Amino acid sequence: MTILITGGAGYIGSHATAIFREKGYDVVVVDDLSKGHRAAVAEGAKLYVGNIADKAFMDTVLCENSVDAVIHFAAYSLVGESMQKPYEYYKNNVAGSMELFESLVRHGVKNIVFSSTAATYGQPEDGIITEKTPNSPINTYGETKLAIEKMLKWYNSAYGLNYTALRYFNVAGAYPDGHIGEDHHPETHLIPIVLQCAAGKRDRMKIFGGDYPTKDGTCVRDYIHVCDLISAHELALKHMLETGECGIYNLGTGGGYSNLEIVETARKVTGAAIPTDIVDRRPGDPPTLVASSEKAETVLGWQRKYGIEDIISHAWKWHSSHPDGYGD
Ligand code: UDP
Repeated sequence: MTILITGGAGYIGSHATAIFREKGYDVVVVDDLSKGHRAAVAEGAKLYVGNIADKAFMDTVLCENSVDAVIHFAAYSLVGESMQKPYEYYKNNVAGSMELFESLVRHGVKNIVFSSTAATYGQPEDGIITEKTPNSPINTYGETKLAIEKMLKWYNSAYGLNYTALRYFNVAGAYPDGHIGEDHHPETHLIPIVLQCAAGKRDRMKIFGGDYPTKDGTCVRDYIHVCDLISAHELALKHMLETGECGIYNLGTGGGYSNLEIVETARKVTGAAIPTDIVDRRPGDPPTLVASSEKAETVLGWQRKYGIEDIISHAWKWHSSHPDGYGD
């Protein structure tokens, strides 16, 4: 079976590419390398460098390969940046996806797994978020992902393009042997920044906000290991191919860690001091985001393998062996 992975040179996409290759799928990667890294793409995957919105380019990709299904990761994904650059986020994420879907329809591709986000929920009342929790994004990034989910619904009704949207909570960690991992420029995510501090690439780090209504005043997030996340993609794909059902699923763990708890766990894993300063809140951050993934567990049969210490120690393997990331 041939899977087209958009954004397959990015952090999550490169883990998907590696894992789907290992499981014996033929993988075609489309990535414009604006954020991704050529060196992150697993051996044996066929890389096409170009943009999903480029019709002629996508015609070439889809004519040269008989694609059975698509996993669509390619997107801009920084909450803070999305608040500064709405045009770029709508153009790249929403307009880009729309062009991709048109290309899929033109070439008769009928199945897509879409990388969505917890940011579609916005700032829900305290409690565990289920797929029935109302969507009310509080940042441009979440708004663009929700727009794409809605677009998929109408593409399904117009053309029979089956879709599964997976709403990720905080994805972290790395391939367990640390040969691929997270390398963003600039880095804005908590765990990589904590580990860059542990590796001596930064002297200190900032914790954004110490006065949230949470257990220790810092934000609480639900961290899911990137490899567990990818295993859910394979199950979602199989389920969709077998049943023809479309669906939306949360992917998280049902438990949350505060920013200070993450730093403390990283101190334990790395043995480094990791000095922190509590500073002002970062705009767009809800206090707590924790998922119920019961639907993915019951309908897809998904089970997680890894906990927070695995996440941080696998990420540490990557960061300590690649202090300059992919070096590109
Ligand atoms: N955070 C922080 N310092 C940093 C980076 C992130 O305190 O240098 C906090 C951020 O404000 C949020 C949490 O860590 O409360 C997780 O942020 P991240 O950007 O990793 O993921 P997000 O939840 O925004 O998707």
